[in-house]
Amino acid sequence: MPTTPRGKIHHDQSGQLVNNIFFRIWTGPFFEDDYELPGVIVRGVPSGHPTEVSPYEDRSTDLSSRRCPHHPDFVDIRRYEYIHCLICNFGRDDGDAFGHHDFEFIHAGRRLQEALLGAGLNGTRFAETHVELDGPGPSHLKEIRTLCFDGRDMRRPFAVDPPEANRCFHCGFSPIVCPTCPSFESFCPSCSKAAWGGNLLSKDPRTVDTTLQSGFDDNGLGSVLDFDYWDGNDFVGQPLGSCIVTGRVVDLLLDLNVTNIALQPRRCHVGGRQSAEYAHLRSVLYQENLQHP
Ligand SMILES: [Zn+2]
Ligand SMILES: [Zn+2]
Repeated sequence: MPTTPRGKIHHDQSGQLVNNIFFRIWTGPFFEDDYELPGVIVRGVPSGHPTEVSPYEDRSTDLSSRRCPHHPDFVDIRRYEYIHCLICNFGRDDGDAFGHHDFEFIHAGRRLQEALLGAGLNGTRFAETHVELDGPGPSHLKEIRTLCFDGRDMRRPFAVDPPEANRCFHCGFSPIVCPTCPSFESFCPSCSKAAWGGNLLSKDPRTVDTTLQSGFDDNGLGSVLDFDYWDGNDFVGQPLGSCIVTGRVVDLLLDLNVTNIALQPRRCHVGGRQSAEYAHLRSVLYQENLQHP
């Protein structure tokens, strides 16, 4: 017998969204998928292959700004103090930035550090970085630092369609999807039964009519930011997630022709705010550098 999903969790795209004030930034090595992302600008290395880095050891401090009354311990700030990485396949010796595709770190050479520090941006900070070599490497190892994203996670909470389905099917507990932070419960906090079990469980015919369904991809590509949560930092973090910069950082990077980076806009909900409040963050150069709009 066909079942009707009882509610869908999705990225909240209601209200006024602006597309050119915040961007995800990451470094190569890039894969085919990176080039196919909508609206992406990829600046590869001019020749050869980009430097490859193996996994890390790091020291960081997790903080909560207590923006959510339902999850006062929700970690929305991660401050890195020290990073140790191993270059396993050195690509070139004049790169501005390198990193690891899955770790979202951006290791910056001296030119990029000086440009960012001298640009009058808010919250520019670099963590002490120890680079170990497994073969040849850049000549300025001691000068490499890791760009920090100390700004508070500003992801908008998820939404449920229809809104009245934001409850446990078994006991009625609400909310399952938090209205004030980007988290939701896999199991009901009241009766412990499955409320959302990830993309796999929510497609299981045995639970499809008793759990919330996923109306989004796990890769976070469609996530929406909310200007209300912005703490003024030009470098916005998402613990265990993407690194976000403002459009004015994007313009600086494009103007400097920084290599081995990729940029992709993230939609930001601006609500009823006047554009004068965020116009200074806008990227001017993004649109003209976009090869495949
Ligand atoms: Zn919450
Ligand atoms: Zn329940």
